[in-house]
Amino acid sequence: MNAIWAAAGAAVGLLAGAAIRSTVFRLSVANGDPQRTSCPRCTAPTSRRLAVRCGECGRSLGTPLTLELCTAAVLALVLGRFGGQSDVLAFAFLGVLGVALAAIDIAVKRLPDLLTLPAYPILIALLAVAAIASHDGAALVRALLGGLALGGTYLILALLRPGQLGGGDIKLAGLAGLALAWLGWPTLIVGAFLGFALSALVSLALLAARRVTLHSAISFGPFLLGGALLAMLGGHGT
Ligand SMILES: [Zn+2]
Repeated sequence: MNAIWAAAGAAVGLLAGAAIRSTVFRLSVANGDPQRTSCPRCTAPTSRRLAVRCGECGRSLGTPLTLELCTAAVLALVLGRFGGQSDVLAFAFLGVLGVALAAIDIAVKRLPDLLTLPAYPILIALLAVAAIASHDGAALVRALLGGLALGGTYLILALLRPGQLGGGDIKLAGLAGLALAWLGWPTLIVGAFLGFALSALVSLALLAARRVTLHSAISFGPFLLGGALLAMLGGHGT
């Protein structure tokens, strides 16, 4: 972990967290509902990009500072670990996207296609640039296969256990698989396992605290992302 890169990551993360605030606010709606385009307090339109608060009454779009601090923490870890490497941009992109997706998933239990699908060409392009820069075509092929493998695994699990995993989880798993397998097959396996382990632990804790029942589904996206992040930070490559 490089302290200077980590500090740079925290600074960039604060800005990136503010930048995603209006998108998270806009997309934090129930499945099928129209995007949120007005202030919940004064109903003034909030369609301005990159806004962090209502232009009329000044109300913050979402809980103040949470996105900024989460993004700062994630980018501090990602840049502290991968800063200076050719793949750091790809991982930083996934980190910021991951915070936005986790926030929306926690708020409304969905992972919008509007964010997951365009992320595929962007992430693949960033990894392709990294592959060219590091003369490592094999890593790019492995990343593509890993994305297919993890997305496919989630697809099978979703078919076996309907209602537990949604289409958004499958698409997010493909993205996580790309990044994890770029770092190596062991990282992919550890990341996939950690996602399920974290989710199981938290589900058990919530069950014990009687906050949920056996039949209530919890958002899986944050665990998938958290497991992937832990595996990537601890990964030792192929
Ligand atoms: Zn307002």
